[in-house]
Amino acid sequence: MSKALLCPCEDVTASEVEHAIEKGYCDIESVKRFTGFGTGMCQGKQCLTAVARFLEDTTKPKPTAAQLMPFTPRPPLFPTELSQWAAASFDPMVAPAGGVPQSLGLTENALKPEGPVPAKAKIVIIGGGIMGLALAWNLAERGETDIVVLERGYLLAGASGRNGGGVRMQWGTPTLIELARRSIDLMDRFARDLGINVWFRRGGYLFLAKSDEVVAKIERSAKLHNKYGVPTQILTADGARDIVPHLTMTGVKAAAWNPRDAVIFPWPFLWGYAHAAQKKGVKVETFTKVTGFEQSDGRLKKVITDRGDIACETVVLAAGAWSPQVASLAGIDLPNEPHRHEICSTEPLKPFLGPLVSVLDSGLYFSQSMRGEIVGGMGDPREPAGMNLGSTQRFLTRYSQALTEQLPQLGRVKVLRQWSGPYDVTPDNSPILGRTPGLPNLLHLSGFVGHGFMMAPAVAERMAAWMATGESDELFERFTLGRFAEGRMEREDMIIG
Ligand SMILES: Cc1cc2nc3c(=O)[nH]c(=O)nc-3n(C[C@H](O)[C@H](O)[C@H](O)COP(=O)(O)OP(=O)(O)OC[C@H]3O[C@@H](n4cnc5c(N)ncnc54)[C@H](O)[C@@H]3O)c2cc1C
Repeated sequence: MSKALLCPCEDVTASEVEHAIEKGYCDIESVKRFTGFGTGMCQGKQCLTAVARFLEDTTKPKPTAAQLMPFTPRPPLFPTELSQWAAASFDPMVAPAGGVPQSLGLTENALKPEGPVPAKAKIVIIGGGIMGLALAWNLAERGETDIVVLERGYLLAGASGRNGGGVRMQWGTPTLIELARRSIDLMDRFARDLGINVWFRRGGYLFLAKSDEVVAKIERSAKLHNKYGVPTQILTADGARDIVPHLTMTGVKAAAWNPRDAVIFPWPFLWGYAHAAQKKGVKVETFTKVTGFEQSDGRLKKVITDRGDIACETVVLAAGAWSPQVASLAGIDLPNEPHRHEICSTEPLKPFLGPLVSVLDSGLYFSQSMRGEIVGGMGDPREPAGMNLGSTQRFLTRYSQALTEQLPQLGRVKVLRQWSGPYDVTPDNSPILGRTPGLPNLLHLSGFVGHGFMMAPAVAERMAAWMATGESDELFERFTLGRFAEGRMEREDMIIG
């Protein structure tokens, strides 16, 4: 075991990289996400070459050029103070455009594993994000292991590797409140159950409300929370300042506070499900893209991939914001739309911020990770629908202005990394679950907008039970794709951004 440091900022040792290689992660993007190397102060400038050389010297057979391709560079070019970003200007009326592009596995074709996918499986899950992998693990726990998960890129390529890790029970509908409460319980025992530290921290969520409309919304939902056993309290601005003393309360009319909400680190959470499912016999095929389906007699018979076809009984579509693209290959229209959401992280600070704080009126949110970074984002009402994963200066400026207005002490803190991911937005902000009308062996598990991470443990648990036992569950009736044709909406309005 070598304690030689390859990434001094994040204390990533040679033996940790060896461990990633042993698990089969031999490309730079996957090793980055498995070990966290390259995410610290030097922005990867010091460690990228060291890790590439280590892979070159250690991996057998020798890594290909594609495996050694540097990971996607994250703006800003240099660590830059939030106050400097806040001083820049932007036109609030102009829709954000492309920005610095983020490759989603530019190298994915070159990284395709040799050999075909398994010729058949009982269940094929499309999408190796949190939804697909949590479902695979839950099914395997119930003894159903004849499963193949197909992932087009590396694990964590989609929204699951790009989110803020916030997990809250403060929702506006009973279903989401109960699902989130169950998920948070499962996250709390994740380390015990799945043997991996997900850096779960129950610091609470503090929602600030600046308009009468938002005050009415948090008051209404707090009543619902209390009815369902969630201890949300409505606080005055002074009460909110007692929770986070440095906050500026200008314009704040009230706040909603639930100390039981939490944050986790998304990367190990996904690894936990992936490895536990694989240990039970689930096959996870990365760098493998679904390109079509074979169907007859009103059923899907085969999933066609760029590494061969898989005959199967059931297909689960869990491709997040890409689900409409994949569904269209089977002739199915989904109403989901991808919307870019940008996010960034700062240099680490000593722990000072307990809760995740969000200003519901503007869509600003920020929390302090267990590593000390301030991680946060802000929705942009002018962001058009579409799959765009670029990073813009407009975002950094809007976010920095809003953040330093709320917490001026952060002005001197430097932004280290900026990225974006796709929200998977449905017309009523609720997921699409259950069977496809007219194609009953295509099951849906998508449409989780900006809250799929915190819903995944509970929804996957229920879906596995529903699939394995065949017993009815109202979740998979109420949230079906068919509801849109019936004009039945299941609206959720406690959405950030
Ligand atoms: C900036 C941001 C912040 C967020 N913050 C939070 C938060 O604080 N809390 C929270 O709970 N949620 C948050 N979310 C939402 C959350 O990340 C998502 O709801 C969740 O990760 C969705 O998981 P998924 O498995 O459905 O999709 P994904 O993680 O996107 O996985 C889908 C996978 O399908 C793969 N795929 C696509 N097409 C194909 C194909 N043809 N063949 C094979 N594979 C394919 C993709 O590569 C992808 O990996 C945030 C999202 C973003 C973007």
